[in-house]
Amino acid sequence: MLDRDRCLALDAEDPLREFRDEFVLPEGVVYLVGNSLGALPRRTPERVRQAVEQEWGRQLVGGWNHAGWYEQPLTLGDRLAPLIGAGPGQVVVGNTTSIAIFQTVAAALRLRPDRRVIVSDVTNFPTDHYIVQGLARALGGGHEIRDVAEGRFDDAAVVLLSEVDYRTSERRDVPAITSQVQDAGALMIWDVCHSVGALQVDVSAADFAVGCTYKYLNAGPGAPAFLYVNPRHHHSAENVLSGWHGHAEPFAFERDFRPAEGIRRFAVSTPHVLSFAALDAALDVWERVPMDQVRAKSTALTSLFVDLVGDAVELASPRDAERRGSQVSLRHPDGYPVMRALIDRGVQGDFRAPDILRFGFAPLYTRYVDVFDAAATLIEVLEKELWRDERYAQRLTVT
Ligand SMILES: *Cc1c(COP(=O)(O)O)cnc(C)c1O
Repeated sequence: MLDRDRCLALDAEDPLREFRDEFVLPEGVVYLVGNSLGALPRRTPERVRQAVEQEWGRQLVGGWNHAGWYEQPLTLGDRLAPLIGAGPGQVVVGNTTSIAIFQTVAAALRLRPDRRVIVSDVTNFPTDHYIVQGLARALGGGHEIRDVAEGRFDDAAVVLLSEVDYRTSERRDVPAITSQVQDAGALMIWDVCHSVGALQVDVSAADFAVGCTYKYLNAGPGAPAFLYVNPRHHHSAENVLSGWHGHAEPFAFERDFRPAEGIRRFAVSTPHVLSFAALDAALDVWERVPMDQVRAKSTALTSLFVDLVGDAVELASPRDAERRGSQVSLRHPDGYPVMRALIDRGVQGDFRAPDILRFGFAPLYTRYVDVFDAAATLIEVLEKELWRDERYAQRLTVT
């Protein structure tokens, strides 16, 4: 078993160690929630200040032309594309993941009008499944929603799945499932919220992909989502949220909607320029990151945590590191007070109902020694039953 000094030595040899200095991290906190809200990049406040003061403050409405605001959904999409295995002109940034799910599932259904089955994962992050349910209702009730566990794609129009499960961190085999789905004549949509920035994502064979930028990508609270469309669908896929920014000529102010060429047709409306500034700064960091090192460190960190925790608490994630994302989930019947007790002792993870403790190990700023300290604190909280303190029983709104 590794001791604390050995962890410090691993940190000294870590090829990604310089990236920790790119982030603002509060003293005395082991932050293991980068899978939910990534840490603040050191360069972000200045970039956001510049967007507010120099662009908005000085250029006013001229910022749309002269500060590049109008083009940012596509220019930022191009910067993000390599992180998901996509090329230029294939990714648009804006809105939220929920909205992008609505757009892509609706587009897929329009591309397969002869099929009426939507395959979804009922255990996925709820918004994915909720959006599918709402869309099916809006379409008049003629569509069947089938859980992926049934394993049948032969009559499916579209299959929507997450690459890495938000609750268990289980990682799906993207190339294998994509070809299985497409061989069955269905379209494949990948949600990469929990894999982008944690491992090298490659959705290039998929039909569509969606994801958010505020988790491992560190673009900040409320940061925009991204939407990938395979170029083979650029001329045929329809954006049912046909807002003016997806129009071929938004400033012609024509009476009827006419889709733009290419990925732009999936833009909807006025972009979130101030949030884009934070995304732009976050992507500066990613430009220099070797993704193979990210995955190597990620599996080393999660494996270390699994080893250190041992059988002190039930593992809810796959034991095989290859089948895990960058998060380790543990199952405990009193998971909520256990997590509150940990947070009180400077180890910040989160809790997902009914009984899951989640620990996200963002490879750019999490150290081996953080893993050691988190595991040691967890074991102490469990052994001494420190979580039984009644202060920890009361639920806060956001868990
Ligand atoms: C985080 C996450 C979302 C977030 O959706 P929003 O629309 O940004 O609130 C959606 N799906 C999955 C799988 C997620 O992990």
